[in-house]
Amino acid sequence: MTADFRHFYQKDWAERTAIVAEQAQLTPTEQALFKKYYVPAHHEIIENYLTDYPLPMGLAVNFVIDGQTQIIPMVTEEPSVIAAASNGAKIVKRAGGFTTVLNQRQMVGQIVLEHLTDVDATAAVIEQHRATLLQVADNAHPSLKKRGGGARSLRTRNLGNGYLSIDLFVDVQAAMGANMLNSMLEAVAKSIGVLTKTNALMSILSNYATASLVKATCIIPVSLLQAGRYSGALVAQKIASASEVAQIDPYRAATHNKGIMNGIDAVAIATGNDWRAIESGAHAYAAKDGHYRGLSTWTTDGTTLSGQLELPMPVGIVGGSIKINELAQLNQRLLKFETAGDLARIIAAEGLAQNLAALRALVTTGIQQGHMHLQLKSLALAAGATPTELPLVLQRLEQAPQQDLATTQKLIADLRQTKEETDD
Ligand code: NDP
Repeated sequence: MTADFRHFYQKDWAERTAIVAEQAQLTPTEQALFKKYYVPAHHEIIENYLTDYPLPMGLAVNFVIDGQTQIIPMVTEEPSVIAAASNGAKIVKRAGGFTTVLNQRQMVGQIVLEHLTDVDATAAVIEQHRATLLQVADNAHPSLKKRGGGARSLRTRNLGNGYLSIDLFVDVQAAMGANMLNSMLEAVAKSIGVLTKTNALMSILSNYATASLVKATCIIPVSLLQAGRYSGALVAQKIASASEVAQIDPYRAATHNKGIMNGIDAVAIATGNDWRAIESGAHAYAAKDGHYRGLSTWTTDGTTLSGQLELPMPVGIVGGSIKINELAQLNQRLLKFETAGDLARIIAAEGLAQNLAALRALVTTGIQQGHMHLQLKSLALAAGATPTELPLVLQRLEQAPQQDLATTQKLIADLRQTKEETDD
């Protein structure tokens, strides 16, 4: 079957979904899904819009960040993430909470010139006109300056091979700032073209947002870390070792950081932020010294465990899709913050809580124990267990030699059979 996808973007929604249904030979029930999750306003967000794709949204609790209690909305499809965040936050709350530091919040973008025979001479011309170029940048988005933001500085970097990067730093106020910065960069690139008689290869924001770094820290008495048969001091020592391994070994570092990003992405999505921008910045920062490392570090002196997480956090509380995403706005209301910088602080603390819970589980009971319970729950529900049957099904499933769909369905059938016999 080959439906006609020519001019697909020009079709209205009904035509578009009909074409897709024809191509994939969808049943009426499948076609009804397009309607079920359809939000007309979302035609304005992406191209060739069909429908929305729902993801579960939940709430992490127990957070105390810079002395303030926070509840944190998270959007994720992964079981255990919210439970782990709340668990990590609970331990840190007992220790007095997280402390965060955010020194500046500027976005950086670059204009790249190519084929330069004398890179340093071109750089010198640009440096001479720095003040004018900053003015050009501000004129390209004047409302930003009126809000107290605007172009802050400009630097040149010789990239080698005849390439020169001109980096523009901008205070983007409450926005993430990618679009704003891109407009400013294109205006500055034109002026640079006139000054240096070159054509820029490209003008674009850099997601390596090194001028938007945020740091979250916590200090936990080891007594709060005791887990089952493991003493708090032993757990602290093992967490510190796990942290060291993530500094040494990229195989471990990637997973260490994935665990941190489990939480960070979930809050970024819940607040309408561009999580790909945060992801790319985080991983670039993890390799800042040329070796990919864990983003967080944990150390212990035997009495306390100290954790810290530092990463770029280019988030906004206005702009992008936030203005048409009602749930992003609702989630921003659930969080207590005033500025985009405050949101960055909250997200960093969340990432550290996520990391603490993951490492504590990993070096003690293992990660599967917590995960398995939630996975068995999903399995039981998929096999048709009702909410009333669930506790008993889970209990039996945990002891079953095999934990698959067929076993679970048989368990449920046996349970119902026994109940019928008892009822009779
Ligand atoms: P917008 O283009 O939506 O710009 C921000 C908007 O917020 C402007 O319209 C601005 O109004 C308004 N605004 C209202 N109040 C404020 C305030 N206090 N401070 C700042 N702005 C305010 O979004 P961004 O420029 O933030 O760009 C983010 C989007 O760009 C995201 O959707 C992202 O996915 C996307 N993007 C990301 C890229 C990347 O990461 N590499 C590349 C390209 C796009 P006014 O116009 O009056 O100033």
